[in-house]
Order: sequence, then C-alpha cells, then structure tokens
Amino acid sequence: MRTNPNIIITGTPGVGKTTHAETLAEKTGLRHISVNQIVKDKECHEGWDDEYMSWIVDEDKLLDALEEENVKAGGCIIDWHGCEMFPESWVDLVVVLRVDSSTLYDRLSSRKYPEAKLQENLDSEIMEVLLQEARDSYDEQIVVELTSNTTDEMESNVDRIESWIKQWKQDHVADGEGEGDGDGGQ
Ligand code: ADP
Ligand code: MG
Repeated sequence: MRTNPNIIITGTPGVGKTTHAETLAEKTGLRHISVNQIVKDKECHEGWDDEYMSWIVDEDKLLDALEEENVKAGGCIIDWHGCEMFPESWVDLVVVLRVDSSTLYDRLSSRKYPEAKLQENLDSEIMEVLLQEARDSYDEQIVVELTSNTTDEMESNVDRIESWIKQWKQDHVADGEGEGDGDGGQ
C-alpha cells in the first residue's frame, strides 16, 4: 500500500520531462527518479550508442536498480523517455508531455543533436510514439497528455499534477491513518 503516488513523466527527448520532474519534486517533496542517471550510475546498460546518443539499456538490470531504490513503495516522479518497462502495479499516473514540432526542433538543435537523431525525435513526436506506448501499457484512466510549449503551460501542468497528488492522497490515505497495519495487501 502506497502513501504517496508514483508518477511517470514521459515523452520525446526535449519535451520538458526533467524540468517538470525537478519542479514537482521541489514543490511536493516527492523523489525525482532520473532513470537516465540511474542507468549511468548503476551501469544498467551495454554501452553508449553514438548514433542515437543514448545508453543501450539493460532493462533487467534497470528494474533491479529501481527495486533497490524501492520505487514501488511510492512517492517517486519517474523521468524517462519510455514507460512500458515499469510494472503496472507500480504506477498511479502517467503524464505524457507533448510539444509542437518547431519548439522541439529549437530545443533539440540547441542541444546540438546530430541531424539524423533530431529528425528521428521529431518524427517520433509527430507520430505520437510515446503517447501510444503509454496508452498501450496502462489503463487509459491514468494516462494524461499535457502540452509543454511554454513556461506558462509548464506552470499550469505542475499545478495540475500537484492537485492530482493531493486528491490521490485524500482518496487513498486520508482517513486510513493507523488502519493499514496487518492488512497484508500488495
Ligand atoms: P527532457 O527531460 O524531456 O529531455 P528538459 O526538461 O531537459 O527535457 O527540457 C529541454 C529544454 O527545454 C530545457 O532547456 C528546458 O528549459 C526547456 N523547456 C522544457 N519545458 C519547457 C516549457 N514548458 N517551456 C519552455 N521551455 C521548456
Ligand atoms: Mg531529461
């Protein structure tokens, strides 16, 4: 039984996952889990792919590392450009961030992405690849699509997710204080 929800923030590279996750962690006290950082620090990979500019992730190792971090206990904001690998039972909300192509182009160009990689990510955003992955992997009720083109949008997204967290806590823990013991539930 979780006393705080787990939230995945996903989307194409450059949509604003890390910025959202850091801001939310600061405002709510929940833990920002940068999956990229864990992959790197705990070596959950088979090396670096130069062409794709990303780690070749070993998902078994990564899941073990997330178990070690006790992610399933709740209170985590999981920041990763994918969501299908996480066990459904760990996840309370999946936020898929979206941006306009021109905005994404500017953000990825300033990251000095190689042209092929940049184009691939733009295609992925246009084809809604990550949104589809979220919808295929989780109950539609817990998948939310939010736009992240401007800082105003980001602020309103953060407010919205904060309210959602409050509501989740009211629904799941509000009057359960001290009642959970011996429940034995998963
Ligand atoms: P991701 O983690 O999805 O790759 P980042 O959070 O690193 O994306 O954001 C990429 C860049 O875009 C950063 O420079 C960040 O400041 C900027 N950015 C992200 N979201 C927004 C937004 N909603 N409005 C304006 N700039 C944003
Ligand atoms: Mg990031």
